[in-house]
Amino acid sequence: MRSTPAAFYPSKLSTKPQRREETEVLIETFIRKQLRLKAHTVTKVTDTEEFMVVHIDRLGRRLLRCGVCRQRCREVHSVRPEREWRDLSMRKQRLKLRYHPRRVECPRCGVRVEDFPWAEAWSRVTTALSNAVAVLARELSWQGTARQYGLNWKSVATIVKRAVEYGLHHRTRLPVHVIGMDEVSRRKGQVYLTVVYDLERRVLLWVGEDRTEEAVKKFFTEEMGRRRCRTLQVVCMDMWTAYAKLVREHAPNAQILFDRFHIVKHLNEAVEEVRRSEMRRLSAKEKVPFKRSRWLLLKNPWNLTSDQKERLSTLVRWNTPIVRAYYLKESFQLFWEYRQSSRAEAHLQKWMNSAMRSRLKPFQTFARMLRTHLDGILPWTKLRLSNGAVEGMNNKIKSISHRSFGFRSAKNFIAAIYHCCARLPLPVER
Ligand SMILES: [Zn+2]
Repeated sequence: MRSTPAAFYPSKLSTKPQRREETEVLIETFIRKQLRLKAHTVTKVTDTEEFMVVHIDRLGRRLLRCGVCRQRCREVHSVRPEREWRDLSMRKQRLKLRYHPRRVECPRCGVRVEDFPWAEAWSRVTTALSNAVAVLARELSWQGTARQYGLNWKSVATIVKRAVEYGLHHRTRLPVHVIGMDEVSRRKGQVYLTVVYDLERRVLLWVGEDRTEEAVKKFFTEEMGRRRCRTLQVVCMDMWTAYAKLVREHAPNAQILFDRFHIVKHLNEAVEEVRRSEMRRLSAKEKVPFKRSRWLLLKNPWNLTSDQKERLSTLVRWNTPIVRAYYLKESFQLFWEYRQSSRAEAHLQKWMNSAMRSRLKPFQTFARMLRTHLDGILPWTKLRLSNGAVEGMNNKIKSISHRSFGFRSAKNFIAAIYHCCARLPLPVER
């Protein structure tokens, strides 16, 4: 006899329903606690095919808060039509909140829509959902994030842009001493943006459309302001006239330092130009030893394999422009190692003279560029700073642009860059 007739133990049965009430939690209570509702309550939870709908109402006569200043308000002015908010899913169930917002009479602000503890004023999703979306959007494309949360791309774009707006408004603005200015290209070098990093904290400070003087001026006037400009000590940048001019104008006390990696990039471009023009000049037979020599010449010699070293020494035996370019490149690099300013300067002067005598046009151009920028190159020996510290961040920006197949609008791209690189705070979930 497996099942015992209920009537057999009448005393035990009567206690059972009571015990259940203690341990079972109604879904309404659970959600109310999850949302941390105090002046509101969950009246019922219903199912539609796609969503679980959570109906919310005011709890008794608890005081509601003003949506503008969050002050508790005594009087409710009117009840608005029902509104909906998407919330985080529960397991696979998509969740929606429904509520008739009240308009309250705030002693300070007048008649205003109440404050919703679960969402920002105009948002159509809860703060919990928008924060979860924002966190994922730092790792994935907006498209991928949208798919993950069953939203459309536009909603994700709105959430990220709101989060950035909030973050920029609420971030702590500490004094800045060392900054790096750089440009990033959008759509294969057709459009440029200017990015400014705090090199000490390795965090993005500002992104601006374009790289013109007019556009970048906003960084100094709007983002920094006159008082914060005064604390600037070093500005690291490419040899780009617009940037240097702005620094001299708005932060005259700051030392301009032309960035090591940019200088080396110009140098490598000179090597490449010599190689290319030589390749055009040489006959097919003469070209053979130079085939695929590009990386051989650009690579640092200590990174070469023994096979590559062998090939390089063959090239060196022919005293061609390509080889001269290679030696000029190598000897220039010694500049970075000097510890004494006077010796570093002497080396650079000697190098520029030999570059001018080299009969290599690209190197003459490069040497002339160095000569006019010496006041921002020589301080390297003392400062030893470069944008290399934030190179990872520059790569991140490139990958943001890649994974989104290049943002159509600069505004969206800028928002995505801030979102991923500026370490902005997200709205607090109440
Ligand atoms: Zn108010």
